[in-house]
Amino acid sequence: MSRGSLFGVCKACDARVGKVAMLRHLRKCLPAKIAGVPSEALLVRAQAPGAPMLWLDCVVSQEAKLKVLDKLLRRTWLECCGHLSEFYGAGRRKISMNTRVGDALGAEGSRLGYEYDFGSTTALVIGLSGVVGAELGKPVRVVARNEPPVRPCDLCDQPAIMICAECVYEDRGFCCALHAEPHPCGEDMLLPVVNSPRMGVCGYTGED
Ligand SMILES: [Zn+2]
Ligand SMILES: [Zn+2]
Ligand SMILES: [Zn+2]
Ligand SMILES: [Zn+2]
Repeated sequence: MSRGSLFGVCKACDARVGKVAMLRHLRKCLPAKIAGVPSEALLVRAQAPGAPMLWLDCVVSQEAKLKVLDKLLRRTWLECCGHLSEFYGAGRRKISMNTRVGDALGAEGSRLGYEYDFGSTTALVIGLSGVVGAELGKPVRVVARNEPPVRPCDLCDQPAIMICAECVYEDRGFCCALHAEPHPCGEDMLLPVVNSPRMGVCGYTGED
């Protein structure tokens, strides 16, 4: 799997599917996994605009509010130390966390902005991919996600396990186990390589 890999895994059936084809896959796979009557759920994709290899597909209940999506994004991708976050629409119009996800997103293909931490900001784009029949135990859950990208060490071709919180802003600072200790910025600056757009930022160490 290369750095540019755009494959992900469907949580319902473990299939490895490309980023574009995944939406079609989920529309078939999710209803097929249900024994009873499927609920109509929103299929929502979160992406990191600067890192196309990072994406999450979620099913969201029609009744769910933005705050439950915020919680899921924090838990899966973002939470380091309880920063503020916000959803916003066109013209940076702020949207209340108590707005229903369906009302905020509106029509299929429409998008919302989202920001976590207004200092060292991680920005995401949230889009509605359509409506899908799915089992909804919870108001929102992840149904597919990108494969963890493998980044080579800056100094050799071993996979990196640490990222430097200074150098990450220049898209470097990846260290394998051997080259972590001698990294010039010091070991205190190193954070684990994780499957998240917040990798290397503000002490983020990955999902709990
Ligand atoms: Zn599947
Ligand atoms: Zn933080
Ligand atoms: Zn190395
Ligand atoms: Zn560094």
